[in-house]
Parts: sequence; C-alpha cells; structure tokens
Amino acid sequence: MTLLNVEELDCRYGLLQAVRGVSFEVAQGEIVALIGANGAGKTTLLRAIAGGHRPHAGKVTFDGEDVTRLPAHRRVARGIALVPEGRRLFPTLTVEENLRVAAAGNRRGRWNVKAVLDTFPLLQARRTMPAATLSGGEQQAVAIGRALMSNPRLLLLDEVSLGLAPVVVDAVYKSLANVISEGATVVLVEQDLTRALRVAGRVICLLEGRVVLEGEAQSLDRDRVVGAYFGLRSPSARGEPR
Ligand code: ATP
Repeated sequence: MTLLNVEELDCRYGLLQAVRGVSFEVAQGEIVALIGANGAGKTTLLRAIAGGHRPHAGKVTFDGEDVTRLPAHRRVARGIALVPEGRRLFPTLTVEENLRVAAAGNRRGRWNVKAVLDTFPLLQARRTMPAATLSGGEQQAVAIGRALMSNPRLLLLDEVSLGLAPVVVDAVYKSLANVISEGATVVLVEQDLTRALRVAGRVICLLEGRVVLEGEAQSLDRDRVVGAYFGLRSPSARGEPR
C-alpha cells in the first residue's frame, strides 16, 4: 500500500529553485534513502513532506489524503514525524521533558518514554539531565526518540550521522534497526553512500533538485550511484568505450 506520494514537487527560496519536479512513492514498510551532494535539495524535500516548507507547486499525499497545505503539527497528528538536521532539541529541558513535549499530539501507539529508553539504552542514565549536556550521539538518540513519541507512521530522518564519530553512528543505526525491523516506514537522508545502500531498500538520488537515479538498493551499481551523486555523465554518454 502506498503511504506517501510526492508528485511534481517544486520548492523555492525566492528565485532559487531547490526542488524541481520531484515525484516518488513510498509504500508502507519501505525504507527509502535520499542521497545527493550538499545543496541537492534533500533537506528541503523532507521539510516539504513534513510541513516545514510550503512547496511552490506539486502535491504531497499521505495515506490517500492531500496534505500539501496542512501545517506541520497537523501532519504530526496524521503520523508524519521529522528528525531534523541538527537535532533541534530544547537545550535546557531534560531528556525526558524533550521526549514528553512530542507526546502532546496524543497519537496512540507503542511509543512512550519507557519504550524510547529501552530502544536507546544509552539514554537511561541521562533521563533527568538537560539535553545541552549530552554528547552528539546521545542528542541524536533523543531527537529520534522525540519523533517516535508521536507514534509516527512515517519517520523522516535528516542526516542522523552528521557530526558524529563512526562508532556513535553505528550505535545510533543499531538502535534504529530495531525500530525498522518492527515495520516502520522510513525516508532517510544519508550522506554516507555505503550506509544508505546497506540500510535502505530503495535509493533516490537528487542532483540540483531533480531525481537523477532511483532504484532498489541491492540492484544498483555503486559506480552508477556515485556518478549520479556527483552529476558525472555515464561513459556511454561521453562517447567513451563501456
Ligand atoms: P545538505 O546536505 O548540505 O543539507 P541538501 O541536499 O539537504 O544539502 P538543501 O538544504 O535542501 O539541500 O538546499 C537546497 C538548496 O536550497 C541549496 O542551494 C541551498 O543553498 C538552498 N537553501 C536551503 N535552505 C535555504 C534557505 N533557508 N534560504 C535560502 N536558500 C536555501
């Protein structure tokens, strides 16, 4: 079943067109990775799906409902949750308070403070500490936990690896694997190509706001992905021997 349908989406910042005619679907239970170089439009696209950026044109349909004009908080109530780039926690609130803030929407489901702490055990001992005192990896776990507290049907993750040591990224993805194995539907932005291809079932590559490559992660040739990522033309397009 199609959970998310993005059709011909255009997003602009004044004269700058950040997303150009992007269309794709995400089925329930799918893990889709959005990849692309800096400035390709990945964050803008996620924000347009979550309601943080009003598109110039195009349509976002969630579970059969046109949500293009719905404000972000009403999309959260429908089951769309975004883990934003840079985490955006409330620095003076404790870990538990940061989590509880997101539960205000009151969608029913399995996620509560205890379930989040069980999923991210590194937060257990940090429960009553202000978010600002946490390490980057711990803060990222709180940001993901906060999104889960709204009991989303679609989880949007924007560069959870950003600024974290590889070993911490591994720990965060290990916890995420538990969330994913329970059938979550996820669209994630990931700069690390190897990780994106490993985690996702399908990969969508953006270049200068356009989809330039889309396919099953397992069947995509890595060189082709790298070429699309950097906007390199294929050998045949350059007239060189294959
Ligand atoms: P990154 O990996 O660096 O986060 P991205 O693929 O997520 O890049 P976006 O952040 O969506 O790309 O940016 C797409 C384009 O829109 C870029 O040219 C960027 O400079 C521009 N842009 C993003 N946010 C704004 C803004 N608030 N005002 C003006 N231009 C913006």
